[in-house]
Amino acid sequence: MDREKYEELVTTFFEWNQPAISQIFAELLSAVAAEGASSPASLMSQNYETARANPEIHMLPGNLKDARDAIFPYFWGTDSWNNPLHLENVRGPANHASLIGVLACILKNPNLCTDRYSQRSNELEVKAITTLANLIFYHTDDPWGVFSIGGTISNLYGAKIGLERVLPGAMRTGLVGERIVGICSQAGHYSNQTVAGWLGIGTTNLIEIPTDEHLAMRIDLLESKLDELYRSKTKVAYVCATFGTTDGFGIDDIESIRNVIVAKSKQYSVPMPQLHADAAVGWALSMLTDYDTTKNSLRMEPGLLELVKRAQIHNRGLRFADSVTIDFHKMGRGHYPSSAFIVNRREDLKYLARTVSETPYFSDADASRDPALFTLECSRPAIGPYSVIASLNGIGLTGWQMLLARSLELAQRLKDKLETIEHCKVLNAGTCGASVNWWVLPKGRNAEEIFQRLVRNELTPEQIARYLPEIRQLFDKRLKSMDPSLDARLGFTTSYGYRPNGIHIPAWKAVFFNPKTTEAMVDRIAYSIAEL
Ligand SMILES: *Cc1c(COP(=O)(O)O)cnc(C)c1O
Repeated sequence: MDREKYEELVTTFFEWNQPAISQIFAELLSAVAAEGASSPASLMSQNYETARANPEIHMLPGNLKDARDAIFPYFWGTDSWNNPLHLENVRGPANHASLIGVLACILKNPNLCTDRYSQRSNELEVKAITTLANLIFYHTDDPWGVFSIGGTISNLYGAKIGLERVLPGAMRTGLVGERIVGICSQAGHYSNQTVAGWLGIGTTNLIEIPTDEHLAMRIDLLESKLDELYRSKTKVAYVCATFGTTDGFGIDDIESIRNVIVAKSKQYSVPMPQLHADAAVGWALSMLTDYDTTKNSLRMEPGLLELVKRAQIHNRGLRFADSVTIDFHKMGRGHYPSSAFIVNRREDLKYLARTVSETPYFSDADASRDPALFTLECSRPAIGPYSVIASLNGIGLTGWQMLLARSLELAQRLKDKLETIEHCKVLNAGTCGASVNWWVLPKGRNAEEIFQRLVRNELTPEQIARYLPEIRQLFDKRLKSMDPSLDARLGFTTSYGYRPNGIHIPAWKAVFFNPKTTEAMVDRIAYSIAEL
């Protein structure tokens, strides 16, 4: 081989050429900053037509700028969601403390499978998990957990522990023809379906309990469903409570769920199902747990203070969960993927444990510090721990309390504004969170009255077929007439979670994750709806 060419290649791509690398970083940073001058999501139109027809690989070795040029159009054509008019969904701009953490992480590129491949980064994972566990479970003794690639996978871990609880050895033997079910609420995330399907339980064996109007699982219906299941000798592997539903921020009463499953498993002499809390969205409220509402050192207005007190009451519920899912990449404003699965008692991980002989690859692994002995994944990125610890310590608990309170404040402001419009109905008025779900009907309709008649099952099928599509039509009408530099981008859901009489209810949606969103932007939403 041509030794000279080889050396040149190695120098270009494996030596740390700081000026060359920093220059490209600086260029990319400038490009991100330039995004501020354009409206959200209008950076560059997509070109899927030839993405498959034109696969690409250069023939000759180039340099770092070739790497830059190869990805640049896609980088430029991707919206970072920094614009404060983005309110569509549970994503916002990632914070810059996280950016520092994550950049540090990728410079070292640790693999969290075992600490041989990650050294102190593995220690950082333990620190990040323990910190989050103490926020969630509030000064717990022996928590443990791991970062995964998303809330779906974190929920999968919770469900898998439940499966092993009620069917010991399922990891080896499979489900052996038993009927096994998992339970969540009708407002739960669709990842519950994914999990039931992928675990082999089957999506038809995922039982969705209806919610009340505040999107919380109906405890009475959970109780009667458990009676029915246990009487028919069905095994219940887990109950996945939701702490902050994705559309409307509904919060299940986890303490009551625990009381019911404890009582029922005793009554029928069966093993307790795993009580997992899917707090992918809502976990961040736990930052508010320790805020002293009497001292009120952040000088929150009375209305906001009430919301904080309500959040504090909800937060207590988390302590009754066996395990939780936390998506730091949602309300933690961290980078993807930063999801954590955390158990309150470390011993519960025994349900997932493999022996060293089952992982010959990691023959020197030590179960006390090497997650590969129980994780679903083998290689695991360390982005989560770096994002979490950098963000928590850069921003600080008080900083987080300000960010959280601001989200609650803006959501409440929009709710209050919409309540004054007759042809609007706020659907999640009673939830305490960062999102707003509502109806917009044509002017002249009384949205509140129509909603109440829907709940009481007094609407004819014809009326339902007329009213519900109007909500979408008006959403589309606003899309056509909106000024992208002034009007916020809103989301739409075909079913926000509450299903009176089994009816899926569509809704407009706004999520306040962007710290730069202003009162004026919120007020303009209400104004533009009144003008539709
Ligand atoms: C987003 C979300 C999930 C899935 O999380 P990913 O990180 O997107 O995989 C699960 N549950 C809830 C409540 C969510 O909002």
